[in-house]
Amino acid sequence: MAKQRVVIVGGGSGGDAAAFMLRKKGFDGEVVILSADHDRPYDRPYLSKEFLRGEIDLPKVYLHPEEEYARQGIDLRVNTRVSGGSIKERRLELESGAPVEYDVLLLSLGGTPRRLPGVPDAENVFTLRSLRDSSAIKQALHAAKRLLLVGAGFIGAEVGASARALGKEVLMVEAAPVPLSRAFGEEVGHVYADIHRDHGVDVRTGTTVKQWHTSGNHVTGVTLSDGGREDVDVVLLAVGIDPNLELPKALGLPIEGTGVPTDEALRVGDGVYVAGDIALHQHPLLGRALRVEHWEVAKGQGRGIANSIAAGNDVPYAKVPYFWSDQYEVKLEYNGHASGEDHAVWRGDRAGRQFSVFYLRDGLVQAVLSMNDAEGGDAGVRLIQSRTAVNAHKLADSEVDLAELVPAKS
Ligand SMILES: Cc1cc2nc3c(=O)[nH]c(=O)nc-3n(C[C@H](O)[C@H](O)[C@H](O)COP(=O)(O)OP(=O)(O)OC[C@H]3O[C@@H](n4cnc5c(N)ncnc54)[C@H](O)[C@@H]3O)c2cc1C
Repeated sequence: MAKQRVVIVGGGSGGDAAAFMLRKKGFDGEVVILSADHDRPYDRPYLSKEFLRGEIDLPKVYLHPEEEYARQGIDLRVNTRVSGGSIKERRLELESGAPVEYDVLLLSLGGTPRRLPGVPDAENVFTLRSLRDSSAIKQALHAAKRLLLVGAGFIGAEVGASARALGKEVLMVEAAPVPLSRAFGEEVGHVYADIHRDHGVDVRTGTTVKQWHTSGNHVTGVTLSDGGREDVDVVLLAVGIDPNLELPKALGLPIEGTGVPTDEALRVGDGVYVAGDIALHQHPLLGRALRVEHWEVAKGQGRGIANSIAAGNDVPYAKVPYFWSDQYEVKLEYNGHASGEDHAVWRGDRAGRQFSVFYLRDGLVQAVLSMNDAEGGDAGVRLIQSRTAVNAHKLADSEVDLAELVPAKS
């Protein structure tokens, strides 16, 4: 039988993980990665943290040494954007260069940071997604005194924490009255805003930028909706991403809301899979379709798809979604998938910032957010996996041993 060619579009978390897992599983066909990025795959989470602060440099940021791709028989083509093609004919069109044929296709395309209407296209206004973005922000921060962050989500917050570590003044402007409340509830949002305030960030919630002041091609200040005029010399827009759906649309793949709907094995159709930020995955354990924008999720999904391809049959991908965020001395971890409207059960020391919040729906734990509390996080994962109801009062009571409430590891 002729050897198969797997073509992976996207050289980020999901794409890179899939390529290496295919080899690990003994897949002996061709593996091609087509990536629009200028650089070979790198660890995106470092870009708002250690790399931005200058604590690690490039070799550590890349996921693998360059020669590793050839050694593993992975044909990595950077600066290569796929513009369309035909699923029926199993062929991709590139923005430049000859078409590429495939037997199996995997798309892990990530997202593009949103911009806001009215924001000047100035040299000191940035968004952060790529290694080059991070390098440019790092350079601009070096000479800056005061950073304006528009948006208090994770990217904004991490860059804010990094800028404080570099001794910069930080002004954080967030339109919502409480940051992150939609995802985690208001109480968590308040804790989180207080952490930044305690570290000297000027956090303005329920506030937007009303007017941008420029000099030449440079933003010099803003007028805020609270009437204040603020001088700033670097701006980061961190107001979320739009998943990259242009290619799936051009290929005629289904789109639902902001993602590409998949089955439990991340399959969209015959020989076509999607992973990462663009995937609306029918999660077998949680019983719902989820789209998650996190590193470990994309990586795990890429590996899960590689397992299916190497095995020659589709294996449902059931890992509980996970992400982390490091800001100052705070390690935040989140397992599962919930909304801020689910019933939040707190356990631990809120004032000391060592606690977990369990999110319950119909008595079942959907997610757990842990702040400096690995034990609570582990227990939460087992509760999520068990799909059995838990007693919320006992869960909230730190005197009750977690082992009593949590099913034993199987
Ligand atoms: C600064 C930063 C910090 C982060 N920190 C964390 C963190 O601490 N924890 C966490 O869980 N998550 C974090 N994330 C989120 C995480 O990085 C993403 O969720 C993850 O990278 C998604 O993986 P992916 O494979 O879907 O997309 P990506 O990793 O974005 O990779 C997409 C790839 O597809 C390529 N591409 C897109 N369209 C095309 C096309 N048409 N043709 C060819 N190539 C194309 C892109 O160039 C890119 O190489 C962070 C993200 C950023 C930007």
